[in-house]
Amino acid sequence: MTVKAYGAQAADRPLESLDIARRQPGAHDVQIDIAYCGVCHSDLHQVRSEWAGTLYPCVPGHEIVGRVSAVGAHVSGFKEGDLVGVGCIVDSCQHCSECEAGLENYCDNMVGTYNGPTQDPPGHTLGGYSQQIVVHERYVLRIRHPEADLAAVAPLLCAGITTYSPLRHWKVGPGHKVGVVGIGGLGHMGIKLAHAMGAHVVAFTTSESKRTDALALGADEVVVSRNPDEMAAHAKSLDFILNTVAAPHDLDAFFTLLKRDGTMTLVGAPATPHPSPEVFNLIMKRRSLAGSLIGGIPETQEMLDFCAEHGVVADIEMIRADQINDAYERMLKGDVKYRFVIDSASLAA
Ligand SMILES: [Zn+2]
Ligand SMILES: [Zn+2]
Repeated sequence: MTVKAYGAQAADRPLESLDIARRQPGAHDVQIDIAYCGVCHSDLHQVRSEWAGTLYPCVPGHEIVGRVSAVGAHVSGFKEGDLVGVGCIVDSCQHCSECEAGLENYCDNMVGTYNGPTQDPPGHTLGGYSQQIVVHERYVLRIRHPEADLAAVAPLLCAGITTYSPLRHWKVGPGHKVGVVGIGGLGHMGIKLAHAMGAHVVAFTTSESKRTDALALGADEVVVSRNPDEMAAHAKSLDFILNTVAAPHDLDAFFTLLKRDGTMTLVGAPATPHPSPEVFNLIMKRRSLAGSLIGGIPETQEMLDFCAEHGVVADIEMIRADQINDAYERMLKGDVKYRFVIDSASLAA
């Protein structure tokens, strides 16, 4: 069937209204009427071909929430009318050790919600800036938040799980002092989630103007990282640092804040590498540097349930689809608190 979408025909073209084809639901498929879709920084990189290999037309969007409008004959977990979400993954090999462990995000054949290979229709996947999507039930998530929160739930499907997964993997909880570096789309979720997990949260920002906001998001302390005295006050005191900054920066300034055996995990993807860290800053306190990519499907469901239980949603600014090009420019300037979400009803206009 044909549905309305918003996407780009080439790297140097703005996003515009497009008609795209969606497959008829197969036996294991769930057809979703999309209500809202969050706007992730990856969308902008991909649609402008700033990472290699963008296929056109490119319809971004992997923070999808909506309502089930049809299910295939063999779908048992979902029925028409259910509130559901789809994140960054719509397929994977389903039999490798990563898939068997529920870590489809690390499957070598993981298929992204947009710009991934697909057979039906042949070509590449098209994402959530659209009215409808058809997804294998394995990759569909259940939403237990109140329906009124639905738009603010959308960013949990990427920004939420990207920050939740490392916080859980490194067992952040009560008694831990946790740093969150960067207060943007990812960082604001990192602060909320680490706070909800019971940790003492220290937010790091380059901008004095974000101090009040960070406290409101749930940070216990805020450090302006340009201020050496403020940084020094936290030396060797943090158990874990979640670094969400995508721009290349000096990692050593943060390593020195970790305790013995502390870990800093990077979730931002810089276009050019960070300067290589000073090895002595790792050796001297047995510190670790790590990375983490979104999360698997079972953990994404766990994250959504945790957020529903703790009343955690993103801070959002709702836009119409035809405002997306302006929204990208504002996102590049950091002028969003803290995630744009497209109202999919605007696609019909
Ligand atoms: Zn994303
Ligand atoms: Zn696999």
